[in-house]
Amino acid sequence: DDPGNVKVVVRCRAFLKREKEKGTQCLIRMDPATQKTTLLSPADSDNPNSRKIYEDKEFTFDKSFWSHDMEDPQYAHQEDVYRSFGEEFLDHNFDGYHTCIFAYGQTGSGKSYTMMGTPEQPGLIPRTCEELFERIQQEPSPNTNYHVHVSYFEVYNEHVRDLLTPRTTPPIYLKIRESQTEGVYVQNLTEAAVRNYADVERLMKIGDMSRTTAATKMNDTSSRSHAVFTIRLKQITHSLLSDETIERTARMRLVDLAGSERAKSTEATGARLKEGGQINKSLTTLGRVIAALADPRRQNKNRRTRDVVPYRDSVLTWLLKDSLGGNSKTAMVACIAPADYEETLSTLRYADQAKRIRTRALVNQDSMS
Ligand code: ADP
Ligand code: MG
Repeated sequence: DDPGNVKVVVRCRAFLKREKEKGTQCLIRMDPATQKTTLLSPADSDNPNSRKIYEDKEFTFDKSFWSHDMEDPQYAHQEDVYRSFGEEFLDHNFDGYHTCIFAYGQTGSGKSYTMMGTPEQPGLIPRTCEELFERIQQEPSPNTNYHVHVSYFEVYNEHVRDLLTPRTTPPIYLKIRESQTEGVYVQNLTEAAVRNYADVERLMKIGDMSRTTAATKMNDTSSRSHAVFTIRLKQITHSLLSDETIERTARMRLVDLAGSERAKSTEATGARLKEGGQINKSLTTLGRVIAALADPRRQNKNRRTRDVVPYRDSVLTWLLKDSLGGNSKTAMVACIAPADYEETLSTLRYADQAKRIRTRALVNQDSMS
């Protein structure tokens, strides 16, 4: 049992074309020496010379990735992000721990870029999968066998949809189940056996396509759905000496959350509701789960002072129960845009709270003789 805090990193993206054209000011500073991220107040639009309309805010994370300016020697590439903790998380999987990496942030802040990336600039998911198979192929022992399975689903409006099966009309929604042995799981979800990286690449493409097609059809963007990519790694080692078989099963979850602007129930104006952006229950519940887990009173031995963590109040938090507060090593990537004070402050506060969460990861191992 290996207790540890949720690892929290933050990444600031570059200006988009339209932001650059407007001459937008960058409100983010990062100090690579201290991993501090500072959010500066924007200028008063009536008086651009007076900069402060809000306060400057400073935060410290496990890592601050500066992906704002490619010309900058500090620029954090996709490779840098992977090397900094993706690789470490893959080590944990080979050691038999479950892991979870989730990307949080407003729409357009770089969540999908960080998790999936583009064909030219692959993100954490493809890099993890590629290296997973490299390691398997380099396994020196002929007595160790590996079995890898992949699943990919999305949570949209509290419905779970398999991204690896063809879309149907009406759509098929999967049920969530809980069992003693399996924990919480999605019933009848496709778990595709994969033998090499090319197999995974094909499935990622199918899944992403399914996600986008569904979004377009509903006249929406993927900003409202949560995408959960899961890899299950089973290692079977047979010891000739002791004639014992050891089986380790680790699961890695890679989660691209819906845009965090969807979580603001109280600020949902009539306009936003009309646009179809109904409050995202999974996202608001995630906020409450994180708040409950981060509550310092939880460390208190006196049970009565502990709040119940509302995992079961939404589909996403129920499915990610273990990843958030249980048997898992977990990391959060807070993605921020360079020029949106209020959304960025809300994301950084969320991330700051997540730092306080502790999980207890176990090596998931069985031995048989
Ligand atoms: P989200 O998934 O959070 O809505 P995206 O990942 O789609 O946001 O990013 C929005 C846009 O910004 C995309 O065009 C993406 O390619 C670009 N982008 C995001 N992060 C970076 C980055 N670190 N470097 C370069 N481009 C980025
Ligand atoms: Mg996205």
